[in-house]
Amino acid sequence: MSARTPLMAGNWKMNLNHLEAIAHVQKLAFALADKDFESVEVAVLPPFTDLRSVQTLVDGDKLKIKYGAQDISAHDSGAYTGEISGPMLAKLNCSYVAIGHSERRQYHGETDELCNAKVKAAFKHGVTPILCVGEGLDVRKAGNQVAYTLAQLDGALKDVPAEQAGTIVIAYEPVWAIGTGEVATPEDAQEVCGAIRGRLAELYGQEVADKIRIQYGGSVKSGNVAAIMAQPDVDGALVGGAALDAEEFVKIVRFRD
Ligand code: PEP
Repeated sequence: MSARTPLMAGNWKMNLNHLEAIAHVQKLAFALADKDFESVEVAVLPPFTDLRSVQTLVDGDKLKIKYGAQDISAHDSGAYTGEISGPMLAKLNCSYVAIGHSERRQYHGETDELCNAKVKAAFKHGVTPILCVGEGLDVRKAGNQVAYTLAQLDGALKDVPAEQAGTIVIAYEPVWAIGTGEVATPEDAQEVCGAIRGRLAELYGQEVADKIRIQYGGSVKSGNVAAIMAQPDVDGALVGGAALDAEEFVKIVRFRD
């Protein structure tokens, strides 16, 4: 069995206000109170406006649930209206930040170059990036999913040193599976996650590559998570829609039960 601790992360996207966020995290904490958190790490990625409320609850009750943001600015401060910086996320004790989610790439034109700057900004301020990569349907139909995804990985990791890269989380999220109900087969997930680990080994050496957690994301539910998690290079899940239902997310976290 892999020595990597699985990371189950809920990406709430633009859902749940701060009151709903508190109720949701309370439900998770209650339902997971007996869970051995040494064996599964749980994180939520609420909207920016919920982070303070989630922090207060997690810190106040010393919950083991981690939290993070869905995006980060490449800049530390200044005239960047609407942006949220690494120092701001660090001040809120965010453990994680998603970078390069396909919705950011699609609706906000985020490039690999910008993702690279954001990865560096996150590391600079001690927030662990969850770097999202993955191909669209046209690329998958052409059979180019591995080359496409590895090119995204190379771009986002340019000049990131091994000491930092060893702690990153990579989320392989085929765009055609996100929010569509069409989950990748476990074999599809393993093909690309295995290739990602292979490229990480080329870039940073096998020892570092073996430490890095690679998540699968795309229509993960309680009914399909176990088969995906059984793949040797899948170390967790980035969950969108199903993470909005606390009961369902708990079942996903308890994929071993
Ligand atoms: C996501 O948004 O990262 C995601 C995987 O969404 P869903 O689980 O809804 O497909």
